[in-house]
Amino acid sequence: MNTAALLAEAAALDARDALAPLRARFALPVADDGATLTYLCGHSLGLMPLAARTLVAEELEDWARLGVNGHHSARRPWIEYAGFMQQGLARLAGADAAEVVAMNALSVNLHLLLASFYRPQCQRRCIVIEEGAFSSDRHAVASLLQWHGLDPATTLIEIAPAGGSDLIEESALESLLASRGAEVALVLWPGVQYRTGQAFDLARVAAAARRAGAICGFDLAHAIGNIPLALHDDGADFAVWCSYKYLNAGPGAIGGAFVHSRHSRASLPGFAGWWGHDPRTRFLMEPGFVPAAGAAAWQVSNPPVLSAAPLIASLQLFDEAGIGALRAKSLSLDAFLRRHLDASFSAALHGVTPREPARHGCQLSLRVRSGREAGRRLFEGLAARGVVADWREPDILRISPVPLYNTHGDVARLLLRLDELLKESS
Ligand SMILES: *Cc1c(COP(=O)(O)O)cnc(C)c1O
Repeated sequence: MNTAALLAEAAALDARDALAPLRARFALPVADDGATLTYLCGHSLGLMPLAARTLVAEELEDWARLGVNGHHSARRPWIEYAGFMQQGLARLAGADAAEVVAMNALSVNLHLLLASFYRPQCQRRCIVIEEGAFSSDRHAVASLLQWHGLDPATTLIEIAPAGGSDLIEESALESLLASRGAEVALVLWPGVQYRTGQAFDLARVAAAARRAGAICGFDLAHAIGNIPLALHDDGADFAVWCSYKYLNAGPGAIGGAFVHSRHSRASLPGFAGWWGHDPRTRFLMEPGFVPAAGAAAWQVSNPPVLSAAPLIASLQLFDEAGIGALRAKSLSLDAFLRRHLDASFSAALHGVTPREPARHGCQLSLRVRSGREAGRRLFEGLAARGVVADWREPDILRISPVPLYNTHGDVARLLLRLDELLKESS
């Protein structure tokens, strides 16, 4: 690997990047010696927008200065807080504003929406997920089935990758639904699979579920803020996400949800709380529940302002950049990374994530061909040399160049460290 040539190539690509100034709007993590780390882990925890500090400080100041009056008189009145995230989230979700809401955390939102949308009837009782789903999602659906008195061993269908592959084709879901669709009440599918980085054709998944008469819900933990979404037009029934991955809203940040406008809380059962009540009459505190319009009706509690303020800061940056431009840069970062992995490391590393642009986002999942122990050593070696990636058992190194704050230079640094480590171990 020619260091000078690689760095020059990266510098040329970065010089042409119109989004490059955004990097300075984030806090870049540093090593103990103060050196800036090469952070490639935005799929797990996005970096802090510097403006998050300002917004959180403003909320603390308003609380200190105003006490309870901050509900109406804070710079961003707390009563209306969910509204400050609505437009930005709707743009990223590809939805109407009323179809999205910032609330709770991902797994909680999954439970709340499953409570409304999973309606087992007679033979139609099964839930379909992908094999190897994120543990929390599997826990949510298995515990829901049990809560309904059903046995997940017979009512939870997990679609496995075709033999020898890590990937699940949309056609596998289509053929399952073609043969067993009448048994399926609900399909819960990822936008981007957390381990493999595979992105799915969500319109195709939603259409297959609808044809079978099943509800379609999406987990967008790894998709929102990563790939452009069109939930309304794709026809999803509901979706949920967290905001600390590509949305950069910080650890434990407020999550979000989408409910298609063809559904209304007034005609669906569900768990209610005062914050889902019509805001015009919420404070009359009457016993009857009158749902708010749209997805907002699924709110239960008043929003956690301190965990929502950073999301407002981050959504502002998405609006400045535009998800289309971010996606174009993401594909450039990915192509640069892939080109050099193919040229130099294909004997050592296997790219699990599909190569076609429509089938991946920022994340590239790599399997170390020489096995799990060597893989873990490689991951630890990268960490020791200032590259932040992560490891998912049993054998996946995950790397994500994120267009809001990563550069082709970051990718070049990753490649150089990989080169050193693989040479040492061979
Ligand atoms: C990150 C992630 C979660 C995390 O759930 P929380 O409720 O936010 O703790 C759940 N599911 C998927 C698919 C994820 O990627």
